[in-house]
Amino acid sequence: MTAPTYDLGKLHGGLRLEANKTKSTSAPIYEAPVPAQLVLPLAQHAGEPADPVVGIGEQVLKGQLIAAAYGAMGVPVHASSSGTVVAIEPWPVSSRYGENAPCIVINCDGEDRPADTEKPAGPVSRMPPALLRQRILEGGIAGLGGAVFPTAQKLIQASGCELDYLILNGVECEPYISCDDMLMRERADAIVGGGQILMQALGIESCHVVVESDKPEALHALGDAIAAAEDTRLILKQVPTIYPSGGEDQLVQLVTNREVPSGGLPTDVACVVQNVGTAAAVYDWILEGEPLISRITTVTGDGVRSPQNLRARIGTTIADLVAFAGGYTDRATQLIVGGPMTGKSMTTDRVPLVKASNCILVLSEPPSTGVTRTCIRCGECAEVCPVLLLPQQLHWYACADDEDELRRHGLTDCIECGCCDLVCPSHIALTARFRQAKARIRELADEKARAERARRRFEAREERIENERRERERQLEAQKSHAKRAGPEAIAEILRRKRREEKD
Ligand code: SF4
Ligand code: SF4
Repeated sequence: MTAPTYDLGKLHGGLRLEANKTKSTSAPIYEAPVPAQLVLPLAQHAGEPADPVVGIGEQVLKGQLIAAAYGAMGVPVHASSSGTVVAIEPWPVSSRYGENAPCIVINCDGEDRPADTEKPAGPVSRMPPALLRQRILEGGIAGLGGAVFPTAQKLIQASGCELDYLILNGVECEPYISCDDMLMRERADAIVGGGQILMQALGIESCHVVVESDKPEALHALGDAIAAAEDTRLILKQVPTIYPSGGEDQLVQLVTNREVPSGGLPTDVACVVQNVGTAAAVYDWILEGEPLISRITTVTGDGVRSPQNLRARIGTTIADLVAFAGGYTDRATQLIVGGPMTGKSMTTDRVPLVKASNCILVLSEPPSTGVTRTCIRCGECAEVCPVLLLPQQLHWYACADDEDELRRHGLTDCIECGCCDLVCPSHIALTARFRQAKARIRELADEKARAERARRRFEAREERIENERRERERQLEAQKSHAKRAGPEAIAEILRRKRREEKD
């Protein structure tokens, strides 16, 4: 086994939280059955929604392309099982794209018939990096750590930069979530193989696989897989268990001691980060020919009878997954998609599992009703903020709707980790307020961009009209000089034409 190394940078702030993961990691990953119906949102990634290429009534096969990538940040969607397309319509979703989003609904035939997918003709190690990146795009792969950034586009952007580090993120620091831990324990070889493919796609000669210290089984499995691969470019690294060290910028800081600049990208400090689940998805697509049609998700919390990790088809509803995990307990009161710190509370379990859904958390306690008091300026929130922000100050400006000061004080760098909320003795819902303020700033930026586009359109139209007017005048002058030579009848005809044009 390859032993992990420890030389680390320093992470500011953060919290040590109760993990609450043992219940869901006490059994292996179970395979969830193919449901009767699949609901596949067109927007499951951070980019433009995919464009449907199937119609209602059409028969589809497992792995078949049903919506093509659209736009510069597009990612395609594939059928997660075989069946018939019965609708393309808005459906409740758990993603960032609002409460309802367009989805392709498939009634499954229960046969799970696969489509023919292309497998590499020769060794992957001979595939050119650009071709590999194109293949990764075709596999519908988006970052499975939660941000669902299109993987191919991230690789394309990074491949144009000087790179020192490819980091595979196995730091699953949010309480309750254990899907990456179980993946690392059970499919370490796929993660290692995916890491090798990603190195090739980036043209880089090292890959750090990073895991927290409270995951000895995962560290052991990955150590064995790296030793078996006999690839000295792979380095296993262990980091302390502290929330939110799995945030992309925080992990870069911990592993490389380099700070991603405000508003920047990890590539600004020669790093690129991919989740371990994404690496396994790349392996499954490139080597096994299976696009991203399933993922591991943790179904847990004391509101679920049998907490566990499931490999489930994308598009299975949360209701089906909770039913497979034994159903709700009598005490279930709160449904969250994601973890307790960054997840989204849901009012319905009809929402489908999407590429980003790493956890379905059912809690028995209702959402916090602690009475909010005024800020006592204790500074606790600033102590724990991993981005070195001043949450109390941001809260002040958010309450005043002062977008300029919010920007100046770095609101857009807030990773919405929730640490400031947890320590605030006045029970101020800081993160929710920051989320709203960020949405408002995005809205204003969109409005400004729309106004700018309208201004440019108006100016272009004015310019065109002016050019046309000049051209008409030039023609008129030419005709007049001709008319001088031609006599009064020709002048009368020109004047009549001019009057007609003015009336038009
Ligand atoms: S922790 Fe709460 S009370 Fe203390 S400074 Fe921050 S916002 Fe104010
Ligand atoms: S939610 Fe934002 S402001 Fe609060 S601790 Fe996290 S990064 Fe800092």
